[in-house]
Amino acid sequence: MARKTAKRLGITENPEKYYLFLNPYEEYRFTKCPKCDKKTKIRKFPLVITIKPGMLFLLNKSCKFCEKCQLIIARQREVEGFMAFEFSSVNPEIVGNDYLVIGTLERKDWQGGSRGLISPQEILEKVIFFKDHLEFEVIPARWELEKSE
Ligand SMILES: [Zn+2]
Repeated sequence: MARKTAKRLGITENPEKYYLFLNPYEEYRFTKCPKCDKKTKIRKFPLVITIKPGMLFLLNKSCKFCEKCQLIIARQREVEGFMAFEFSSVNPEIVGNDYLVIGTLERKDWQGGSRGLISPQEILEKVIFFKDHLEFEVIPARWELEKSE
């Protein structure tokens, strides 16, 4: 998915790293990795997000992270909340548009970008694309009375 976006944006040379899981669940915080069941850590990642039509948004966000699986877990509602907050005054008409979290940045590039020192085009050239977007379904534990036959 990220690769397709990259091609559309005319970038094909960027490195790929990490997997992203945009967590849609309110009630599950994934303190354990859904892939390997190890405890996740909390780490800040500068997330690069494209929003239709053609907007770029940088979000330095605390995420759950599994080092072993290279899996970043970001809460979808938080990501969307930050975007809505950011754009509600400057560009309210794009709030609610389709978006894609395409990758992350090296910390040094993020710092430049957040201070307006590098242009959106340069950010796109420096994006580290996610290898893939993963989805995990949570099957809630259920307990019920055993039916006696
Ligand atoms: Zn894991």
